[in-house]
Amino acid sequence: MALTDRNVTIDARAYATPVHTPEIVEVIDLVSGEVQQTKAFIEAHRYGELVEARVGMREALKNERPRHICAICATPVYLVANMHKRFFFRHKTEDGSCPAKTRGELTEEEIRARKYHGLRESEAHKRIKQLIERSLRADPAFETEAIVQERRWASTRDPKAWRKPDVQAISAEGRFAFEAQLSTTFLDVVVSRRMFYRDESAHLIWVLAHFSERYRRMTTDDLLFSNNSNVFVVDDETVRISEETRHFHLRCHYRVPLCDAGIITDEWREEIVPLRAVKKELDRQRAYYFDFETEEGKSFEILKQNLRDEVAAYWAQNMTRNAEGDPKHLDRWLAIKERLAVHDVAVPDYPARDGSFRNMMHAVLSGLKGHAVGWQFDTLVQCAHQIAERHPENLLAFGFAIQVGGHEALLESQDLTGKWKRRREVMRAQLRQRARKYVPSTACMPALLFLFPEVGARVSAFVQRNGLSVEPANDIADI
Ligand SMILES: [Zn+2]
Repeated sequence: MALTDRNVTIDARAYATPVHTPEIVEVIDLVSGEVQQTKAFIEAHRYGELVEARVGMREALKNERPRHICAICATPVYLVANMHKRFFFRHKTEDGSCPAKTRGELTEEEIRARKYHGLRESEAHKRIKQLIERSLRADPAFETEAIVQERRWASTRDPKAWRKPDVQAISAEGRFAFEAQLSTTFLDVVVSRRMFYRDESAHLIWVLAHFSERYRRMTTDDLLFSNNSNVFVVDDETVRISEETRHFHLRCHYRVPLCDAGIITDEWREEIVPLRAVKKELDRQRAYYFDFETEEGKSFEILKQNLRDEVAAYWAQNMTRNAEGDPKHLDRWLAIKERLAVHDVAVPDYPARDGSFRNMMHAVLSGLKGHAVGWQFDTLVQCAHQIAERHPENLLAFGFAIQVGGHEALLESQDLTGKWKRRREVMRAQLRQRARKYVPSTACMPALLFLFPEVGARVSAFVQRNGLSVEPANDIADI
């Protein structure tokens, strides 16, 4: 194989790609106990997530708690990337006893290790250590005499273990190890340092000489994606700012999730920030300025809520008596169906024609809003009777929707003849006997849980608590 310097940079959110014909076709996940097809496993992950996962996998391997083993020989395996950033599993050790030979293909790490052997004490490395030291010395928060380069750091727990961080320092925040990331700082080194400094309860800050989101090596990605999508650079400008402000500053490059037209995309940003504004997590050995993970979680919530709102709006506009099932709206519904499928929620192609699903949607929306949605009824109590007569499987959802919407008193006030009250007593007695007709539809449950999380959670808790559909229930006074 030719040792070229062509680097492939993969978008963090793109799906990861396996090698064409992996030697190890199947692995066993020791946590779930399942056999996994390695190609399918790799393809199911987005690139950034997979890189983060492989750091965790490698750590588990070092702790002798491997997550995956070869399905043929049961040797622990780990995930590696070849020079095109295509992934495959490799045996931890290969003695020839397994027909799968995983050590033929060179990884980017191995190519670079061969090529740049001896690069560690390069001028670039010396320079970055100097820049880190100058930044620290400019900042009175760090004890002057404790700022040292290349000094042995002995483990406080294991007298035989030690590391030699590029630069170390102490402040009121604790002990710090600063490591320059070089093109030959490979995953094994990254992982063992993470573990060492975590055991020392010390902060480990990786520092790069430069970063470009469009040209990233595997070694940079390993740091980036295991560090909440933040990386730090120290350069002439940051040193000047550190010296001017007398606070250690770093240039932080970070990934920002953006919600756009129903999907999440990323934007890379950079900012020069003081080290004291960097959040440090000892347990996960992460140091970041922008909390990508939390923000991405919020973005997913926003997307989900947008989708819920879209479904409710569609329903209010299309499920009236005149417009119900109007074919011209079906494209809009099919687009919604596709977006719901991403969340593992299946809904019918023709929502108006599916009696149980249509009734559930009518029932929950009416219960939440306090007036008929989808039906032409004037009152909520008419909706209640309709559900009880036609679709008792949706009665629990309706009852909890009334609770969540706070419309119990309204429903009662509309029950002028007391007919609903009497009916409710009968139904409660039937529920105590676990009458099967009140068991919610299994097919509709995922949609209920996703579209109306509060109502769905109450319904499923009730069903579980009362073993509904199994034996007589006795906990139904709250319906
Ligand atoms: Zn094997």
